[in-house]
Amino acid sequence: MGSQEVSSTVDWQGKHVTVAGLGVSGIPAARALHERGALVTVVNDGDDERARAQAAELEALGITVRLGDGATLPPSTELVVTAPGWQPDKPLFLAAAEAGVPVWGDVELAWRLRGTGGRKPAPWLAVTGTNGKTTTVRMLASILQAAGLRTAAVGNIGVSLLDAVLGETEYDVLAVELSSYQLHWAPSLRAHSAAVLNLAPDHLDWHGSMAAYAADKGRVYEGNTVACVYNAADPATEDLVREADVEEGCRAIGFTLGAPGPSQLGVVDGILVDRAFVANRQKQAQELAEVTDVNPPAPHNIANALAAAALARAFGVEPAAVRDGLRAFRPDAHRIEHVADIDEVRYVDDSKATNTHATEASLAAYDSIVWIAGGLAKGATFDELVTGAAKRLRGVVLIGADRALIREALTRHAPEVPVVDLDRTDTGAMSEAVARAAELARPGDTVLLAPACASMDMFTNYNKRGEAFADAVRARADESA
Ligand code: ADP
Repeated sequence: MGSQEVSSTVDWQGKHVTVAGLGVSGIPAARALHERGALVTVVNDGDDERARAQAAELEALGITVRLGDGATLPPSTELVVTAPGWQPDKPLFLAAAEAGVPVWGDVELAWRLRGTGGRKPAPWLAVTGTNGKTTTVRMLASILQAAGLRTAAVGNIGVSLLDAVLGETEYDVLAVELSSYQLHWAPSLRAHSAAVLNLAPDHLDWHGSMAAYAADKGRVYEGNTVACVYNAADPATEDLVREADVEEGCRAIGFTLGAPGPSQLGVVDGILVDRAFVANRQKQAQELAEVTDVNPPAPHNIANALAAAALARAFGVEPAAVRDGLRAFRPDAHRIEHVADIDEVRYVDDSKATNTHATEASLAAYDSIVWIAGGLAKGATFDELVTGAAKRLRGVVLIGADRALIREALTRHAPEVPVVDLDRTDTGAMSEAVARAAELARPGDTVLLAPACASMDMFTNYNKRGEAFADAVRARADESA
């Protein structure tokens, strides 16, 4: 099976396919391939109760499952289909490379299987980047819907691409969120148009280096037919466009928070404008929406809206639908979510800011902040973040295992800012953090949970951390009411 072959020409009957990993992508992949006549073996590292129950269901269909050994390549394997998170240096992949066996991820499989069953395959508008993917993809889907198109936000967002391409619903176009892992394993994906929102170091342990991480992100541009959308403020994204091998006539389209040049979308006097998809881009600018149509209108979120608008415009969507779609968009929970105002202090939950790049964007959105931060640093350093935000910090409340790293950065770069260092990691810690933040805040300030760290030292995940914050804030609001 060469990488150029398209799905309809793959004869799955009797093909030996190894699916690596039981889980959200592995189980539907195993089923879909089995239904098409492939001889499927699932290999999985874990062998716990849950895995056994899942294995039993697949075995009942006639699929072979090997638990407790995700490293050995079954000898007759002709293709490996892997869960995206499996690290490329695993012995299974080394064995596949040695045997000349191709490895596809869940996205590659969905790409190859789209359009089977006689349906016209829907084009993909793809979004990747270090931060802002989910928000941008949801904004994009909202705009496409406002244009009357049948669409869905799918991919890394938690909705399986395989379900979207094989399910009953027909789509005109898909808004696809892709992680760097998924792109790594998707060699033949060719999106209609794609955007890389930004590039900051993340997941480097998986990719091996920043260059390898960027290269995997850059794959999203390969073979684009209409537009490669890049962030004019992040030259690394434009470099990736330059390096990509695209279809004849495909254009590079920038987005900027400033006034747009030709072939860019940008902002002029509080208006989102398009100087790319207009008849005369030297002279003409098309008004799309107002900044206040973006929810919330924080700078990084306006950038997300511009990227979504660029992809929609590349697909031929009219300006009015961009405005309507942005107005209809509601952000997901824990992403700069306004929780309450108490005594003229605004409380905002950005628990999803789990790295310094996201937190930097969040801190840039407010003028005077009591910042709640800390958790698991994942190897990050905080000097740059603290230097950039120092002037806007009224105070800081630190929580979590690696809070000393942030405290040291504050001592170095913002010694005058009051810091409360909470030496507790129990579940009640968040309510104390909120109480201490409230003491530091003055009318007009924003108390912002934007931890710059992962949550797992204190909480199950960032959702739970955000809920603990919101609960504590609401309890105070009730008291003061
Ligand atoms: P992803 O899907 O890439 O994780 P989300 O849309 O879920 O992105 O946003 C994650 C966090 O990243 C948000 O909490 C917000 O603080 C931050 N963020 C969102 N958009 C951007 C952006 N364009 N640049 C920097 N940070 C951003």
